[in-house]
Amino acid sequence: MAKGQQFIKMREVRVRFAPSPTGPLHIGGVRTALYNYLFARHHGGKMILRIEDTDSQRFVPGAEEYIIESLRWCGIEIDEGVGYGGPHAPYRQSERREIYLKYAKQLVEAGWAYYAFDTAEELEALRKQYEERGETFAYNYKVRTTLPTSLSLSAEEVEQRIARGDIWVVRFKMPENEIVKMHDLIRGDVEVNTSTLDDKVLYKSVDALPTYHLANIVDDHLMEISHVIRGEEWLPSLPLHYLLYRAFGWTDTQPEFAHLPLLLKPTGGGKLSKRDGDKMGFPVFPLYWVSPTGDTAHGYREDGYFAEAFINMLALLGWNPGTEQEIFSMQELIDTFSLERVSKSGARFQPDKAKWFNAQYMHHKSDAELAEIYQPILRGHGIEVSDQTAGFVAGIMKERATFASELWDLTSYFFVAPTEYDEKQLKKYWKGENPRILSEVREVLAKIESYSKENTEHFVHGWIADMGYSVGQVMNTLRLALVGAGKGPGMYDVISFIGKQECLKRIDALLANVKPIDA
Ligand code: GLU
Repeated sequence: MAKGQQFIKMREVRVRFAPSPTGPLHIGGVRTALYNYLFARHHGGKMILRIEDTDSQRFVPGAEEYIIESLRWCGIEIDEGVGYGGPHAPYRQSERREIYLKYAKQLVEAGWAYYAFDTAEELEALRKQYEERGETFAYNYKVRTTLPTSLSLSAEEVEQRIARGDIWVVRFKMPENEIVKMHDLIRGDVEVNTSTLDDKVLYKSVDALPTYHLANIVDDHLMEISHVIRGEEWLPSLPLHYLLYRAFGWTDTQPEFAHLPLLLKPTGGGKLSKRDGDKMGFPVFPLYWVSPTGDTAHGYREDGYFAEAFINMLALLGWNPGTEQEIFSMQELIDTFSLERVSKSGARFQPDKAKWFNAQYMHHKSDAELAEIYQPILRGHGIEVSDQTAGFVAGIMKERATFASELWDLTSYFFVAPTEYDEKQLKKYWKGENPRILSEVREVLAKIESYSKENTEHFVHGWIADMGYSVGQVMNTLRLALVGAGKGPGMYDVISFIGKQECLKRIDALLANVKPIDA
C-alpha cells in the first residue's frame, strides 16, 4: 500500500462515480458511490459524477434522474458532474462525443489500434464456424490480419471504404504474449498475459460513439482522476485500461485502481439481484422505481428506511473499521474510512441487519426528530397536535419501532379511543369481578384533580393496596378500557396524556358497550 499512500500525498484526490443510465441504481452501485465519496472526503478531495451513456442500446429514460436523486437522498455530495457542472463540463459522455474520435485516430496512427470493417453478419458467421469446430471465436492477434482490417487491407482501400461510408470500428491491437503487471489497492499485484485478451472495440462509426473503454480512459485522464474505485466486475478490463494509458502516453498521471468486492445474495452464492429482493421481501434499490414500461421496484426510501441507517448498513458491507463499532454517522465514516480495510471477498447482504440498523436509528432519534417524522402520519389520520406532543408520544414508544409506519399502531390510543377490543384480552380480563372493580376505579379517577403521572399513580395504586386487589388484574382491565388491547406503555403515561375526561369516557364506553364474557 505504500505506493498508494505516496500517490495520495503527491496529487489532489479526485474520484468519480461513473454509472451508466441503464435502469435504477442497484445498492451495489450506491455502495461504490459511497466508498468513492468517503475516500474523497477523507483525503480532502473531489467527488465527480460522470454519466456514461455511450451505449445507446441500453439507455433507459429516467435512470439518470434516478441516480442523481438517489445520491442526494443518501447524502453523497457531488462536487462536479451532471446536474452540478464544473471545470470539466460536460460530464455526460453523450455530450462529449466529438472528443473521442480524435483519440481513437491517435491510437490508430501510433499503431496501437486499427480499423476493422467486418459486418455484424460476417462476425456472426465466423462465430458459428468456430462453434461447429468446437472452438470459440476471439478477435485477436491470431485473426486480425486475416480479416478486413487496416492491418490486412491497403491504405488506399481503407481510405476508400471509409470515404464511401462503409461501417467500421476501431479496435485495440492487443499485444501478443506480454505480461501486464498491475496494482490494485485492495487486491495487491495482479498479472495477466495479453494473449488471453481480445481486441476490444474502442469506437464505432455506426453511431459515432466510443465504447465504454475508450470513453472511460479518455475522460478519467481529461478529468484528472487520481483514483478509480469501482466494482469487481471491471477487474477483467484493467489490463486493457493499463495498456490504453501506455498507448496514449499517460502512464505518469494514470490513476490508482481499487476494485470493490461483490455484494452477495443473503444465501452467499452469487451476486445480489432484484429477484433475491422480490423473493425475500427486501429492496435492492435505494428509491422506488417505475420503468418506462411500467415495471416497478421497491426502494429503501419508500419502504421507510432512514437514509442514515441505509448508508450505515451499506458502508459495513465490504468494509470494516477494525473495531466493534457498528453505528457510524456520515462524518464518522469519512473520518474512519480507508481502502486498506475494504475486504477482498464478497459481502453477503443481510436483510435483517438492514432492519436492525433502521431500528437503531429510530431508537436514537430525539423527540424533535421524531416529531418531524410522525407529524405527517398523524395528519394523515386527521390528528392535529403540537410538534412537542407528536415527539413526546413517539418518544415513549420509539424503542418498540423499526419503521415510522409502525408508530401509529403503537400510539394511536393516545389520540383516539379504542373502537374495538382485543379478543384475547377481553376473554382474560372482562369477567368475574373486574367489571365491578373498573367502575370503582372510575370513581377513584373521577375524584383526582391533578392528572400528572405521579399523582394518578399515587392515588390509584394507594387505593388498590387499601382494597387488597391484585395490581395486575386492575391495571390490565383499565388497559383494556383505555387502549383496547394488552399493548402500550405504562398505564399512567396514557392516563396523564389523555386526561381525566377522556379516561372516564373510555371506561364508560367499555362498561356500557361490552357485555362481560361470563355475564
Ligand atoms: N459505466 C461503468 C458502470 O456502469 C463505470 C465503470 C467504471 O467505474 O469504470 O459501472
